[in-house]
Amino acid sequence: MIRTTDKQECPVCGTQGEMLHDALKDQLFGAPGDWSIRRCSSNACGLLWLDPRPREDDIAKAYQTYYTHANSEKKSHVKSRFVACIRDLMVNAVRCFCGQRTEEKDIAHMYLRDMPPGQVLDIGCGDARFLNRMKQLGWAVQGVDFDAAAASNAKNLYDIDVKIGTLEYLKFSENSFDVVTMNHVIEHVFDPVALLSEVHRILRPGGRLVIVTPNAGSMGHRIFGRFWRGLEPPRHIQIFTPTALEAVANSAALKIDKVFTTAVNAWIIFSASFVIKRRNGTSTLGDVKPKRSEQIEGLKMQITEAGRLKNSHAEGEEIVLIATKN
Ligand SMILES: [Zn+2]
Repeated sequence: MIRTTDKQECPVCGTQGEMLHDALKDQLFGAPGDWSIRRCSSNACGLLWLDPRPREDDIAKAYQTYYTHANSEKKSHVKSRFVACIRDLMVNAVRCFCGQRTEEKDIAHMYLRDMPPGQVLDIGCGDARFLNRMKQLGWAVQGVDFDAAAASNAKNLYDIDVKIGTLEYLKFSENSFDVVTMNHVIEHVFDPVALLSEVHRILRPGGRLVIVTPNAGSMGHRIFGRFWRGLEPPRHIQIFTPTALEAVANSAALKIDKVFTTAVNAWIIFSASFVIKRRNGTSTLGDVKPKRSEQIEGLKMQITEAGRLKNSHAEGEEIVLIATKN
């Protein structure tokens, strides 16, 4: 079992939270336990968080079967390559239809295409696919991850060095990076303000932080509720709204340039939410891949969400925050 501690007050603004989802199981990676999620009663904040949450010294147990960092490039089977090719064509067609092709390139480069190459640090870099993309463009790249297997994949696949451990533990020098990026990382950490304060310390003055993270206020959470992929108990310690994420960045003395939400990868979250709904009540590991029909439904929902984003910037599946160190 994973040992826990209670957390009734919002980790961002301190307001008491109301219970939103209870008796959740990890239907993706089979970590033990029943989990519940509170929502901050302050409408201005709206953060979601686990209560009780895993104890920090027990959190490794939640990652024992976590494989998103494993190398998934081994699709040598002809049939699966063909299926992946058809799927990519469909995804491209949907993004074209929704006017998302520019944003697809933006997110693939973590919104750095307007900057000249410099030093980038990616926290939670996994197998360093993103860093390799930036390296090809002339950036000096450095990765951090807690997963040794991911680090060795990064070395073998791309000859990129990934340091193993937390950012606080690794103690990079002050003012040493032009950019720090975190893609689907901040929702996993116990003390986001401490992490961003450390990011602030290691960024050079004028340096940029880019964060991408699931959006608690998304259309997907509204529709799928307790089955929404973004909840991911017990590994997502908190799930942000744009305002809650802004508050954390402000507390770390960063200057916010932009906060918005995006639907560019929404189909991935939707189709995984269909899987979680289908597997309702189970916590054993099984086939967690979406069926083709679930992927198609996910793509249709991406079109809906992209349409809604033209009127409101709040409902995308992911939040993007871009901030600067003054
Ligand atoms: Zn709050």
